[in-house]
Order: sequence, then structure tokens, then C-alpha cells
Amino acid sequence: MIYVEEEILNHPRTLQIQSRFPDSEVVPCARYGEIFNRRAQHFRLQKRRPSLILARKHRNFVHDAPEGFGLAGARSFLFDPLLNCIYDCRYCYLQGMFRSAHYVVFVNYEDFQWAIEEKIRALPSQALWFFSGYDCDSLALEPVTRLAASFVPFFARFPQANLELRTKSTQIKSLIDMEAEPNVVVAFSFTPEEVQASLEHETPSVDRRIRAMERLQERGWRLGLRFDPLIYDPDYREQYRRLYEQVFGAVRVESLHSVSLGPFRLTGDAFKAVVRLYPDDALFAGPLEEEEGHVAFRRELEEEMVAFCTGELLRHVPEEIFFPGLSLAPAAPPASSSQPEGGPVA
Ligand code: SF4
Repeated sequence: MIYVEEEILNHPRTLQIQSRFPDSEVVPCARYGEIFNRRAQHFRLQKRRPSLILARKHRNFVHDAPEGFGLAGARSFLFDPLLNCIYDCRYCYLQGMFRSAHYVVFVNYEDFQWAIEEKIRALPSQALWFFSGYDCDSLALEPVTRLAASFVPFFARFPQANLELRTKSTQIKSLIDMEAEPNVVVAFSFTPEEVQASLEHETPSVDRRIRAMERLQERGWRLGLRFDPLIYDPDYREQYRRLYEQVFGAVRVESLHSVSLGPFRLTGDAFKAVVRLYPDDALFAGPLEEEEGHVAFRRELEEEMVAFCTGELLRHVPEEIFFPGLSLAPAAPPASSSQPEGGPVA
């Protein structure tokens, strides 16, 4: 079933997306908030059979990234024409953020692009970074959304601005079919195989992600590596050492724009919401503590992990492209993030 807002029933992108699901019933609705985030919904049940909702976004197309997000010295912005993710990572704040597990696609990409262009023109002398993939995975639904296929050519017109697509997916065909753009970074997130298998449900394996990176590298794309979030395990040294051998056995340093480490973080509220959904998950019985409104691994463990992983990574990459301890992953939604418009907010 596909829910479609009445005002965009005939939007070309609506029709293009619908054409991929010729057997799905189309159900018109006034505003997507009627379906998404209703209080009676149960995220965990809905995650098993999510529906697609096509909607139009009316405001807040681009917002400032929260403090500490992004690369030091640059002005960072977030935009997300999608809400929710087809994957199911146990540490992800998205599980606690929306009551609904349905996927929302805002089909009016051009309005996002006008808002981005306005920012670029208003800040001509600053290094600007635009991130998608805060309320979603940038590429996981690419065959349906064509998000990269639309936004990469848009950013090609503005070489002074940069776009980061953040993903765990292997849906790279649109990028392979395009010329690599020097101001676009395709950043892949990794945890060790053991963590991927136990916490990153439905995601492509570490090996498949590396193979996707290799293909992009051959086509000249600039790549990013996000070892984020760091997950503690008594055997973490061996797990991360092996992961780095795997990744750097395939990905060349010359292809890399940046490598970052990010400790595990959830706001207290997001943590409670996720634990309510999955009370028996081993992650939440781990050595965690709450400090200054955030839940994280105990400080001494976190420092130990960051120090170890930094040492290991610097055996593979130069310091200039390495950003230890700088979180490039969200712990919580930004203040003006994509809360539903025109419907009840959870
Ligand atoms: S962490 Fe990323 S890939 Fe995993 S569920 Fe959240 S948005 Fe999706």
C-alpha cells in the first residue's frame, strides 16, 4: 500500500515512484501526519511491514547541524527528503524518534534544492557542507527515491559547496552511472562484523559495503569512512583491528576524503524510547552510563576505545584526513528536524 498526499497525486516524482510498484494500492490522504506518527502505532510491529508515504514538505528544508556534527571549521547543514530507514540498527535514535516505522519520501526535491542554493549564495566565502542521511540512510532506497541521482547533479553546479551522502547500503548504481563529482563524498559507516551481525539488522555485510566502496573508488568517487558508533565488546581490540585490515586491504588512502571515529551516544530520552522497544537487547545491558543528558559507554571504556582505534587507524591513514572523537553521527534529532507537519507529533 502507498499513501499519497492529495496535493501531489500527479507530481511527476510521485508517478515515477508509484510506477515501481504497479501492484500496490494507492491510498490518498490529506496530510502524511494522519498516517505517520499516530499514537496508536507500534513501531516494532510496523517495522515488520512498513508502508511508503509520499508527501510534500512545506518548510524547514535545510537546517543547521547540531553542535559537534560535521567537520571542524566548516558550516554544516542537514537536509532529509526521506524519513526513516529500511535498516534496523539497534543503536539508532530513529527507532525512538518517530512512532511510525513507515517510510516518508518528500517528493518536492526542487524545494530542498532552492533552499540549499539560497544558503550557498548567502555564504559565498565559507566552507559549506550539506549532509543527507540524518533521518534516513542516504542511498538505501535509491532505486525508488533517486535521491543521489537528483542531488549530485545539483551540487555539481556549486563547486564551493560539499555534499556528503552517508550510507551502509550497496545501492550505488546511480553513482556508478554518473561522473564522479569532486565536491561529493560518499561516506560508508562501519562497525566490526560481529557488531554488524548482532546490532545492524537487515544491513549489507561489512564485506559487501567494502566491495561497493571498491567500485566507487574505481569510478573516481571521493569516499569517507565513518567508524561510528564505536561499540564496546571485551574483544573489541581484535574486532576493530580485523575490520581495519579488511577495509584498508581494499580501499586506497588516495580515494579517501576523511576518516572519522564516533563514540556511541544517545540522548537520555532517545535511549529510554529504544529500550522500551527492545528491553532484552544485549546492547542495553552493557557498560553504559548517563552523563549530561547522554547515554554512552562508561567514560574510561570510551576513552580507551577511542585511543586504541586512533592508534590502529593512524597505521593506515595520515592524520590530515583523520577526525578522532568527532561525532559525525546523530545522537538525537536536531532542534528543527523533520517532525511531522500537519499531524500529531509524538
Ligand atoms: S543507523 Fe543509519 S542505517 Fe542504521 S537504522 Fe539508523 S539510519 Fe538506518
